[in-house]
Amino acid sequence: MDNMKVLIADQINEKGIEELEDVAEVVARTDITPEELVNDIHDFEAIVVRSRTKVTREVIEAAPKLRIIARAGVGVDNVDVEAATERGVMVVNAPESTSITVAEHALGLMLSLARKISLADKSVKEGKWEKSAFMGMELNGKTLGIVGMGRIGSQVASRCKAFGMDLMAYDPYITQEAAAEIGVEIMDLEGLLKAADVITIHVPLTSETKHLLAKEEMEIMKDNAFIVNCARGGIINEEDLYNAIKDGKIGGAALDVFEKEPPKENPLLELDNVVFTPHIGASTREAQRDAAIIVAKEIKEVLLGGSPKNVINMPVLDPETFQQIKPYVQLVEKLGKFVIQTAEGNINELEITYCGELSEIRNHDIMTRKMLQSVLNPILTEPVNMVNASTVATNRGIIVTEGKRCDAGGYKSLVKVEMKAEGNQVSVEGVFSKEPKIVRINNYLVDVETQGTMLISKYKDIPGIIGSIGAKLGEHRINIAKMQVGRQEQGGEAVMVVKVDQNIPAEVIGELKKLKHVYDAVAVNL
Ligand code: NAD
Repeated sequence: MDNMKVLIADQINEKGIEELEDVAEVVARTDITPEELVNDIHDFEAIVVRSRTKVTREVIEAAPKLRIIARAGVGVDNVDVEAATERGVMVVNAPESTSITVAEHALGLMLSLARKISLADKSVKEGKWEKSAFMGMELNGKTLGIVGMGRIGSQVASRCKAFGMDLMAYDPYITQEAAAEIGVEIMDLEGLLKAADVITIHVPLTSETKHLLAKEEMEIMKDNAFIVNCARGGIINEEDLYNAIKDGKIGGAALDVFEKEPPKENPLLELDNVVFTPHIGASTREAQRDAAIIVAKEIKEVLLGGSPKNVINMPVLDPETFQQIKPYVQLVEKLGKFVIQTAEGNINELEITYCGELSEIRNHDIMTRKMLQSVLNPILTEPVNMVNASTVATNRGIIVTEGKRCDAGGYKSLVKVEMKAEGNQVSVEGVFSKEPKIVRINNYLVDVETQGTMLISKYKDIPGIIGSIGAKLGEHRINIAKMQVGRQEQGGEAVMVVKVDQNIPAEVIGELKKLKHVYDAVAVNL
């Protein structure tokens, strides 16, 4: 045995410890205090925590040998990832450890709703025998609408297939091919809401998914449909859900998560046809065992000089290269944000080209990964990082290429990102001069700062259109800070980039798109 040491700071499954004992001396101190941790960490190459132990900057700075911090679970709120990154310490977790567990919980909730199991249980315990009160519904032959086809959604799909359900999913970020492999039809949200007998939610909580299911959506759902939420509170508008169930529109709901946990004084608690669990979707012995095994394997990999899979942060680069590419890392992050917000439908291909002096740098990997990270992060639950960005993109069926050298068009260096999505193609070019700037959108030359909100609209280059767009924004009290227009020929298609001081709500975009001679409008927040 060599002298590498792993500290187990929180209780983890024995299987994980056995795995680690193959390569290192394992020291279990599951009652270690924060002060002891700072004092005693200096000899350790690795530390394993769950949620109790806080791996603070102070701890990391007191650990000169530390190479990896492993969270045997998913969330890394208890680890100072920034401090770890600065010191070149990898932070790993086990995001896939809970997928099957949560999927099974969703199934349990679905069955409980369909067969009124929790109500029947309560009634029998009260000494009653009300057979006719609990007439149920078979899942067989019913349509399941899965909102979010990531790790958990896919596991739910394969299980519900075995129950004889017809499967459809709403997930604008997964390709039809990937969905077809699992036997799921990809729909738009409206189509799914209208067709599903049971809707199960497996998306992260983001600004896009906040209140994704509210009054309007519930109104178009099938009468008596069920809703299951094992994802995050806040994706369903709870007040609207209460009203829809009370009015008899929705048949019932099963909730593991709430906007406010625990859900005290929540009117939903009064309803018989709502089933509750206290955010236990991920709580099984198997998930905990798998988390311990997964992170133990990751630590082994690192200690033996290999590359772990689930790295949350970026390993530190050699300082000289990092300084050279640092401004462009910032730039590509903005270009990534730009393309994901302009994509219509699933992204199929991304090509990134480094032009001018940047093309001379031997390895563009960090920049490409940063761009992918900013494309993927807004749509995925777990943080996409420099290490896993390419794998995540490949797994999602996105073809990523690096373009051939190109002309920097008079700039020292320029980066071009071309995106092909199901519904559109966008090409954007950026440079760094004091700050990241966008200098071309498709074929139009622009000069746009990469911060704040902007409206990008395409329209017919005839008199009055710019005015009508400006008037529409004014009508909604959206102030224009700056405006640029570009066109290729008089009377043809033109593009306008308008920097605004307020956010542009989706309804305003809808109204802009309806204006005569306006071909397209999209809001981008950078
Ligand atoms: P994931 O990242 O693997 O999948 C999320 C999917 O949602 C992705 O396919 C993504 O494309 C899709 N998506 C993102 N934005 C969307 C949108 N606006 N509309 C439709 N689809 C969208 O995540 P996962 O591991 O499957 O986790 C799913 C959810 O389950 C998360 O909210 C997570 O926090 C939650 N979760 C809950 C528990 C629990 O204890 N109940 C445990 C683990 C995870």
